[in-house]
Amino acid sequence: MKLKLAIQKSGRLHDDSMKLLKECGIDISNGVNKLKADASNFPLEVFFLRDDDIPQYVEDGVADIGFVGENVVFEKDKKVVIEEKLGFGKCRLSIAVRKGEEYTGAAFLQGKKIATSYPVLVEKFLQEKGVSAEIHEISGSVEIAPGIGLADAICDLVSSGSTLFMNGLKETEIILQSQAVLIKDAKITPEKQQLLNKIIFRIQSVKKAKNNKYILLNAPNNKLNEIISLLPGMKSPTVLPLAEEGWSSVHSVLSENQFWDIIEGLKAAGAQGILVVPIEKMIM
Ligand code: ATP
Ligand code: ZN
Repeated sequence: MKLKLAIQKSGRLHDDSMKLLKECGIDISNGVNKLKADASNFPLEVFFLRDDDIPQYVEDGVADIGFVGENVVFEKDKKVVIEEKLGFGKCRLSIAVRKGEEYTGAAFLQGKKIATSYPVLVEKFLQEKGVSAEIHEISGSVEIAPGIGLADAICDLVSSGSTLFMNGLKETEIILQSQAVLIKDAKITPEKQQLLNKIIFRIQSVKKAKNNKYILLNAPNNKLNEIISLLPGMKSPTVLPLAEEGWSSVHSVLSENQFWDIIEGLKAAGAQGILVVPIEKMIM
């Protein structure tokens, strides 16, 4: 028995999806140019598909699981379960209007034309705001619609905003924050769920490792207590004596978001020779 995974064939999610599998120790070397490929060291078969089709394939059980953007999952609204956020493919689905326009909130959209590839999510947003507008569904290059007179506003995916800028548009409202997620067939069998649990455990270990750094530093022994009090660590930090009398080496783990604050504190407390190294996997 094999677990069947659907990932994007080519596009923004493809490389990160392949990379995540690799980081999870799953080797898919053969045939990325084909429709499907087998993992050599895990009971997994990978299907390469258009991202828009992935929720449907997972609902139908053609694939058991898939890596796909939340934006697509919510737009397609299929019977699939979001099992895990994957930490890549981050973007937002936003309303944008012409640069010169004054956007006064969702009411601005009343009676206007909105071009988008996400009619379901836009309609939901408009309903929540009590606004009615005309939605023009287009499948690509949404950002050119206002320039050619097809629409007054657009709703599209944004990451840096440079595409909007180049087309004379400005982002005015975020309707969804999105990232890639692992979805599964709601009717997945217990045997397959067991395989899936193994993959999820590995993904979580990879994600944790990415959010954390291993830190090593030297400290005079009379400053040790203060320095240790600044470090969270998995348990307590490791403290080893240095060859030089009166000094110790302290090892610990810091999460990315508290990182710089703590480093400053450590330096101020007398830590020296601070080394920060990436962690590959973190099992807890
Ligand atoms: P496909 O041929 O598979 O249908 P596509 O053209 O629909 O590809 P891509 O542009 O490759 O899709 O985007 C795939 C996903 O990447 C999006 O659905 C979204 O979840 C994510 N993404 C992240 N950042 C962006 C961005 N700036 N613009 C568009 N999508 C982004
Ligand atoms: Zn697509």
